[in-house]
Amino acid sequence: MVQSSVLGFPRMGRLRDLKKATEAYWGGKLSRDDLLAEGKRLRLEHWKIQKDAGVDIIPSNDFAFYDQVLDHIQMFDAIPERYSQHKLHPIDEYFAMGRGHQKDGIDVPALEMVKWFDSNYHYVKPTLQDNQTFKLAENPKPVVQFTEAKEAGITTRPVILGPVSFLALGKADRGQSVDPISLLDKLLPVYIELLEKLKAVGVETVQIDEPVLVFDLPSKVKQAFKPAYEKLSSLQGSSIPQLVLATYFGDVVHNFDVVDSALQNLYAFHVDLVRNPEQLGPVIDHLGSKQILSAGVVDGRNIWKNDFKRSIELVETAIQKLGKERVIVATSSSLLHTPHTLASEKKLDEEVRDWFSFASEKAVEVTVIAKAVTEGPASVREQLEANAKSMQSRATSKRTNNPDVKKRQQDVTKEMHDRKSEFPTRYAAQKEHLKLPLFPTTTIGSFPQTQDIRIQRNKFTKGEITAQEYEAFIEKEIREVIAIQDELDLDVYVHGEPERNDMVQYFGERLDGYVFTTHAWVQSYGSRCVRPPIIVGDVSRPAPMTVKESKYAASVAKKPMKGMLTGPITCLRWSFPRVDVHQSVQAQQLALALRDEVVDLEAAGIYVIQVDEPALREGLPLRAGSEREKYLSWAVDSFKLSTAGVTDSTQIHSHFCYSEFQDFFHAIAALDADVLSIENSKSDAKLLKVFIDEAYPRHIGPGVYDIHSPRIPSEEEIKVRVEEMLQYLKPDQLWINPDCGLKTRQWKETKAALANLVNAAKFFREKH
Ligand code: GLN
Ligand code: ZN
Repeated sequence: MVQSSVLGFPRMGRLRDLKKATEAYWGGKLSRDDLLAEGKRLRLEHWKIQKDAGVDIIPSNDFAFYDQVLDHIQMFDAIPERYSQHKLHPIDEYFAMGRGHQKDGIDVPALEMVKWFDSNYHYVKPTLQDNQTFKLAENPKPVVQFTEAKEAGITTRPVILGPVSFLALGKADRGQSVDPISLLDKLLPVYIELLEKLKAVGVETVQIDEPVLVFDLPSKVKQAFKPAYEKLSSLQGSSIPQLVLATYFGDVVHNFDVVDSALQNLYAFHVDLVRNPEQLGPVIDHLGSKQILSAGVVDGRNIWKNDFKRSIELVETAIQKLGKERVIVATSSSLLHTPHTLASEKKLDEEVRDWFSFASEKAVEVTVIAKAVTEGPASVREQLEANAKSMQSRATSKRTNNPDVKKRQQDVTKEMHDRKSEFPTRYAAQKEHLKLPLFPTTTIGSFPQTQDIRIQRNKFTKGEITAQEYEAFIEKEIREVIAIQDELDLDVYVHGEPERNDMVQYFGERLDGYVFTTHAWVQSYGSRCVRPPIIVGDVSRPAPMTVKESKYAASVAKKPMKGMLTGPITCLRWSFPRVDVHQSVQAQQLALALRDEVVDLEAAGIYVIQVDEPALREGLPLRAGSEREKYLSWAVDSFKLSTAGVTDSTQIHSHFCYSEFQDFFHAIAALDADVLSIENSKSDAKLLKVFIDEAYPRHIGPGVYDIHSPRIPSEEEIKVRVEEMLQYLKPDQLWINPDCGLKTRQWKETKAALANLVNAAKFFREKH
């Protein structure tokens, strides 16, 4: 019989219950016991959903109050002393590492948090010491939660992050020089102890995730697999449970030299066949002689209904070679990256609802596929027919296909990607036109989103105020931020983005081809969830999206007003994209819509236009090489297509929330933006060296202060920062701006910080 399996389930609950509980606990409104009880309730509910769906292999230990990697940090006692010294209750120590702790005389910042592979989920980085030791927690969480499920009558397969990935995803602590992977000998015994404990409470199989196997690995990490897994496979089935090695978000074929005898002796091997279906053949040929294949065919990263016909074909291919007993039908990765259930969406149009599948529905999908291949298609005929009908409906729907958009894409020419002249000519025209001083000052777009703004927006959404009233309110907000910018004496103004709820959703709501959900939240980090809009069809712009506000702002401002748009790649990456057409096609459609907007802004008298692309880097394929180059090529093209429709004297800006460009500097340069503003205040100014090394000719505004903190930077410290930047950039290349938008700040600190920023700029203007 072919079994069905889920690799992990979202933790937030149907109504973001976990978010509410943890935030209430942090705010002192929920007791510790109640928080722990809520966690338990959610785990049971989620196991039950999967059991009721008929899933054969249900995960446990996939639940975390903050982050699953942080759970491992605590479980192995890899807790830096700055946290452990306070002897906090374990759950508070855990949150202290996740989000910092500033209470009762304790003041520790959080551990570093970074993106989990190429997803929008963030994990806490294991942060290791030169003299690091490890010790297993007394009641390890995987043991506790397996037992908890068992008591509820549900047998589960615990999930743990494998030792090589745990270390390879970590880093040396500040001031330490340890290479994390060198700690494997010390860490492995603790894993073995954990696995023995799991065996002792009756665990038969454990899912051990080694997702770093999809990366291009440094040789030390590669070599670490063999001894570690030789040891584990020798114990497997006797003192420790059977091990299912899981990989996801990429292919493992390029690491087959690592997946050698040691890994082939493990009980089962899981691969992602959604991302890389072509690895199926090579993986089958490479399995150990008795090894089971866990075939990840149901997408853990997106919201589309599974194409049963295709998945069944893939699984049948595996069965023909391996037999039914050696194949498991699984989700491609944990379902952590998908929303809880489609059942919560009361407002979705019936046509598109039929195309979607969230976590609870995906749990059913694995069981249907498993049944189809075990008992034959007739056993699930109704489901297969309904599924084929949905696929057909989506493929032929008017919502997915817009012939005008397709026609327009066919007509795109190479010339449309290029500005009329090279930068020196453009710059001369812009200088003449905009009359900016040396060291021009500007901000990144948003100003504080006050309580009042949220209240008015809510009232407008609920129909409690009219469109005219709302518009009048927005105009008043715009006038106010302009008056403030006058007073601060900034050089290039922004309108402050008061009308925008979110930088992607705002545009999605104004474009054809998008739909929105009401409850489809996915965890981004800790208690923070995002609700990405969904691209369902060909994207086009029925009408201008931002011109009204920008034009109004320009009409009341005495200095140049910067128009503000979200770039095509960021719109794409922070939405759930379509899977029926390539992402490059969707990016080009977004680019064409934005191109019209850029041209309309220019026609409305906006001569500085910023197109934000903070998500450009996270879209980089995980491995260097041709995939990455292909991505960069279409990503750069889409940015250029969206911005190149203006005349030379209009200045194009772009913004990025990071300054690590080493891996793809050529792409950043190829964007040909007149001005780049980038996050830099928390990074080393040395990162700017690449701009001189590569003789970057255009202008750059590396952020001079951190906008994530209410702290006000002094004029002196901004000057020091600018001085550092001048080691790498020429005076006439440098803009002075904060790291990012100011929407999360209060006005008080914003004004004080910007006043210091402007004074620092004036100081350098005098000097040069
Ligand atoms: N223009 C946006 C803002 O100022 C940019 C936000 C971002 O880069 N994430 O808020
Ligand atoms: Zn930013």
